[in-house]
Amino acid sequence: MSSRYEPVIGLEIHAQLQTRTKIFCGCSTAFGAAPNSQVCPVCLGLPGALPVLNGLAVDYAIKAALALGCTVQPQSLFARKNYFYPDLPKGYQISQYERPLALGGGLEIAVDGATKWVGLTRIHMEEDAGKSLHEGFADSDRRTYVDYNRSGVPLIEIVSEPDMRSAAEAAEFFQRLRDILVWLGVNDGNMEEGSLRCDANVSVRLRGASAFGTKAEVKNVNSFRYVEKAIDYEIGRQIDLVEGGGRVVQETRLWDSAAGRTNSMRSKEEAHDYRYFPEPDLPPLIVDDARIERVRATMPELPEARRRRFVAQYALPEYDAGVLTQVAALADYFEAVAAAAGNAKAASNWVMGELLRTLKERGQDITAQPLDAGRLAGLIVLIDKGIISSSVGKNVFATMYDSDRSADEIVAAEGLSQIGDESALLEIIRGVMAANADAVAQYRAGKMQTFGFLAGQVMKGSKGKANPKLASELLRKQLDSQIVR
Ligand SMILES: [Zn+2]
Repeated sequence: MSSRYEPVIGLEIHAQLQTRTKIFCGCSTAFGAAPNSQVCPVCLGLPGALPVLNGLAVDYAIKAALALGCTVQPQSLFARKNYFYPDLPKGYQISQYERPLALGGGLEIAVDGATKWVGLTRIHMEEDAGKSLHEGFADSDRRTYVDYNRSGVPLIEIVSEPDMRSAAEAAEFFQRLRDILVWLGVNDGNMEEGSLRCDANVSVRLRGASAFGTKAEVKNVNSFRYVEKAIDYEIGRQIDLVEGGGRVVQETRLWDSAAGRTNSMRSKEEAHDYRYFPEPDLPPLIVDDARIERVRATMPELPEARRRRFVAQYALPEYDAGVLTQVAALADYFEAVAAAAGNAKAASNWVMGELLRTLKERGQDITAQPLDAGRLAGLIVLIDKGIISSSVGKNVFATMYDSDRSADEIVAAEGLSQIGDESALLEIIRGVMAANADAVAQYRAGKMQTFGFLAGQVMKGSKGKANPKLASELLRKQLDSQIVR
C-alpha cells in the first residue's frame, strides 16, 4: 500500500438493545423463533396501529450514551425515514434524525502501543427492519420470503467521527465499543445473529491533505474478524483506483467474505432522498436529569475504571488487570476468589492460568463453568498453608473442575498432603542415597551440582508430595554429615 495515501475511516454501528420486547410494541425479541411468529399490527405496520415507546430501551440507550461520555439531550425526536423495501412493511422506518438522543463522547483506543481518542458524533434510537430470506426454500430460485420477527427490534446507531486512520484502528475501536456494550448488558455482542452490525465509511486522501476524499460505505460485514479485512481491502481498492487515474464514487459496497472483496451494491434503496418527516404518533422523547441519574445509578463500574482499581487495590500488574477486566463476569469471579482466598496475586494466577486455559480447551464461557469461586479459593488456601505444592494443586484443580468436590475433600481422599514429617522424608532420602551412591560420592567429592539431581529423585520418590523446602534441608544435612545412618 502506497504510503503517499492516508485512509480516513468512520464507523456506524447498529447495536440491538437487549430488551425482551420490541421498541414500539410488546412482541418478543427472542432470536431464532419460527418466521413471523413474533409480530403484531404495530410491528407489521398495519393501518391504524399506534407505536408506544419501550421505556427500558430508552434506559439502555441512555446507559450506552453515558458510558461513552456522550451528552444525553433533554429532548429528542423520532422521525419517519421513508423508503420502500419489502422487509419494511410500513414503508418507513422510525428513527431519530435531526434530534438524536445523545451527542459527542468517544473512547480511547490503543494500537501498537499508541493511544488515541476516537470521537463519537451521535447516538440515536431506531427500529430494525425485517429480514428478506433469499434461500432455504424449495422455490427460492423464484421467490423471496420475508420474516418480520426482527421488524421493530430496538436499536441504537452509534456514529463515530472520521477519526480512524487504519483498518487496525477501526477494528480496535469496534472491539472496545463492543466490550463496553456487552459489559453494560445493553447488547449481547453477537454479530452472527445480527445483534451487532458495523458499517464503515472509508475514503483515502494524499497524506497531509486536509480535505476528505470521496467515501464509500462498506456494509454487510457480519463477523468480527472481517471488519479489519473488509476495510483493508477497501483502502487498497481506492488507492489503486486513484493511482490508476480513476475516481472513487460515493456508493454503498457489500463485503463478500468468500471472495475477500467488496462489491458495488446496485439497489433501489440507494435513492438518497429518504424524505424524513416528524413521526406524528410519538411525542418528543424527554429525558430529565432525574432519569439520567436513575440510569447512572444502575451502571456497573466500567472496564477502564475497574482495571485501574485492580492495579491499585490488589497490587496486580497492569497486564493481569487488563486480562481480568475484559469481561465483567471474569472480573467478578476473580474478585470473589481473591476475597475468599485472601491472596489476590494467587487468585489472578489461577484465574488467568488454569481457569482460562481450561475454558479455552473446553470452549466454555466464564458464566457457564462449573468451578465456583469458593472452591478455587479453597485450593489456593491449601497451597498457601503448605499442605500441597502448586504442582499437586494443578491436579487438584483438574479433579475439582470435573466434580463438585472441594479441594480439601480431594486432598484428603487421595492422600495428597505434602509429606512434612521428618522421619517419613528421611526414609525416602536414605533410599535415594543408597540407590544413587555414585552421585552421593560425587557430591561429597565437591561436585555440588549433583545436589539438584538428588533432590529431584527425592521429590520423585515422594510422588511429588514431599515438602520441597524441608526435603531439601534434610537431604543437604544427610549429604554433608558424611555418614549414612
Ligand atoms: Zn409487534
